[in-house]
This record gives sequence, structure tokens and C-alpha cells, in this order.
Amino acid sequence: MTDDTAISLLKQRTIGSSRQVFVRDTDIPPNDPNTTPTSSLYIHIPFCFHKCHYCDFYSIVDRQDRQEAFTDRLICELRAQVSRCELLPIRSIFVGGGTPTLLAPNLWKQLLSELDSLLDLSLIRSGEGEFTVECNPETVTEEIADILAGGGVNRASVGAQSFNPVHLKALERHHDPDNVARALDRLGNAGITRRSVDLIYAIPGQTLEEFDHDLRAALSLPIDHLSAYGLTYEPNTAMTARLRRGEFAPAPEDPEVAMYRHGLSVLRERGFDRYEVSNHSKPGSECRHNLAYWRGDPWLAVGPSASGHMNGWRWKNTPRLDDYLQQSDDGFAPVCDLEPPDARRSLMDRLMTGIRLREGLDASEMLAQAESLGAADRLHSSATYAENAGWLQAADGPRWVLTDEGFLFADRVAGEFIGALIDRG
Ligand code: SF4
Repeated sequence: MTDDTAISLLKQRTIGSSRQVFVRDTDIPPNDPNTTPTSSLYIHIPFCFHKCHYCDFYSIVDRQDRQEAFTDRLICELRAQVSRCELLPIRSIFVGGGTPTLLAPNLWKQLLSELDSLLDLSLIRSGEGEFTVECNPETVTEEIADILAGGGVNRASVGAQSFNPVHLKALERHHDPDNVARALDRLGNAGITRRSVDLIYAIPGQTLEEFDHDLRAALSLPIDHLSAYGLTYEPNTAMTARLRRGEFAPAPEDPEVAMYRHGLSVLRERGFDRYEVSNHSKPGSECRHNLAYWRGDPWLAVGPSASGHMNGWRWKNTPRLDDYLQQSDDGFAPVCDLEPPDARRSLMDRLMTGIRLREGLDASEMLAQAESLGAADRLHSSATYAENAGWLQAADGPRWVLTDEGFLFADRVAGEFIGALIDRG
């Protein structure tokens, strides 16, 4: 299928006021007959009880009046996607948001039962596969934990962000820090034993000692995985607007780097290995779904704003619940962004995400792909540049792997790789 043909298979339609979105036709991915089989699924649940000020994920404040319509629509989309692509036994499901645990218990039961009937969950049931749900500490009740575990969920990621009420307030994050431990206990009691916690550092006003306290508080909990992200100021968030109004000063760069290094050292002492720039786990407890994503494997995606990747195609569902709830003819969600297969962009994506991993990238595979784009020499030069800067272990080695220092410059290294691939013709 040529790109032009594929694009012509999209119908443009006006939804709501004057927004143009694409409506998926039956001939566009993942419906390509030559589609690559996939074993990963992402589900986006868009409800939150409050919008945290730093967050740029698509979510809306829940009034509980559209959860039912949303679940019906989600199941409809899921059935349409599954009926048109080749699925292997599922290796990973990740339910993100939003706050998935805000979905009403009866709707969770409905969704889990649908997943069970549509998909082969045998690998998940045997523990070989992974089924993760993101949780907010305030919304993990015993009932929800039991329902999730009964439906095959075997991993949970709980958003703690900080254990310091002052810093939670700075983020406009509304939860009681004590509820993180309660949520993890409830999940564990229900049988969900793979548990992760998210932290944010470089919060305005946060000291290294305070971050150390957050880390140790997290490590005192029954977790096998920890993600620690430096606070970023995404466009169109309330936090960025407050920063622009001069309401606070962002953390300077040096303390942020010191926090990253300190976090790494404390986590290593406690047996957590860094397997991606911001992700650390006990051996064997890496998030398999995210690894599949970072390794460029295909995945199916459902829900508003969910992004999928199959057969070289990438698409993003509309990030508006109203539009999402409008039924398209064949059950697919409206797509707001669709990129046909493109060897250059695929290689750029692979370099950008793969270099962030502890395992790095297969150098000869990357160079062979760059060769077909006439960019192998430039890509190799960029790897040599990164090695000379002390960021890459060996440009001529079998794998391109960041040095300890290089993990602080992962974006810079990725930028060098991307620059090497830009078509100068
Ligand atoms: S709970 Fe999570 S998804 Fe919801 S607004 Fe806060 S950070 Fe964003």
C-alpha cells in the first residue's frame, strides 16, 4: 500500500464545532492484511478527580456521568480493533490514564470480562505476561483491588510523586501520602504482588535531603519497581502557566542533577537497577509493557488520546471524550493523528527510545538501517562524537550503551543521532 493510497483511505469528518478528525476506514491499520501480529495492548481511561498542575496526559475531571457511555464505547472500539488485526497470546496490557482506579467497580468488571472473552490471556494468567493498572492512592479500595486481581491484573503502578505534603501541594496533587502504603497493601492482599511507585524530583523548593526522604519512604514499601522523573514543565499545564507568571522559581539544574545521581546511588544500594533513564527495578521486575514500547514492538491502543503502533503505522485517537463518544460507523475511534510507515522516522524513534535503555541499541542493526537511508556514515560519526564526549561506551562496539554520565545526556545523544538522520538531499 503506498502512502498516498493509505491517506486516501481516510475520511475526513467534522466533529463538534469545526474540528476535523480522521475516521478510520476498514482498510487502514491495524487492518492491513500484512499486519505484524501484536501481543501488547494499551487502554486509556481518562477520568481523574482533580487535574494535577504538572500533568499533560489527557484526562478530565470526573463527574461520574459519562463513565458508562465511555466503557460501552471503549468496548466497542476494542472489539473493532481486535476483529481486524492478528493478535498473539497477550504478553502485556497497560491501563493508564487518567486514573483507571476511578472507574466504577461494575464497569471494571464489564471491561475485564470483555478482555477475557476477546483476548488470549493465558500468558497473563500464568504470570509470564504482565497486566498493569495505574492507580491513584486515594482510589484503591479493597473492592477495586479484588476485582482487578480477579480479572488477571498482576502489576500496579501507584502515583506517589512525593511523601511531603508541601511538595504535593506545590504540584497541586491531592492525596494523603499515608494512602500510598494503604493502596499497596490492598493491592498486595488481593494478590497483585508486582508493585511500582512513581516519584517526582526537582519540585520547586525541594532540597536533596527532602528528595532523599521521599526515596527512603518509597523504598520502605513493598515495591519491586520505582520510576523517578525530574519535574518537567509541559506546555499548556497549570504549572507552566504559574511558572510564567513568576509564582515560583524552577529547581536549578545542578541540584536536579545531584538528585538524579543520589537517587541512582540509593536505589542501587537497595538492589534496584536502572534499566531506563528514569526507571529502576529489582532484577526481572522491569515493566515489560514499557520495554516493548521502547524496543519499538507493535502495540494496539484503545481509548481517547491513546497512541498505537502497528506495522510501521502510528496513530493517535482523538484526545476529546465528546468526540470519542461519537460512534463512528465501524466501531473505531476517531483518529486525530496518523503517520504511515516511514523508514527514517521509524529509525529515529528507535534510536530515541532505545538509547535510553540499559541494554542500549544493536549498533550494526542501526547502521544497516541508516545505510538504506544513505546516513550510515553520519550516524556512526554521531556515535563517535558521543563516545568522545564520554556519553557512549563504545561507538565501534556491538551495542551502543550510555555511560553513567551519558544517562544524564540521553536526550543530547538522541539529538545527535536524529541530526545524523535528517535528510539533507
Ligand atoms: S492523577 Fe495522574 S493523570 Fe490525573 S491529573 Fe494527576 S497526574 Fe494527571
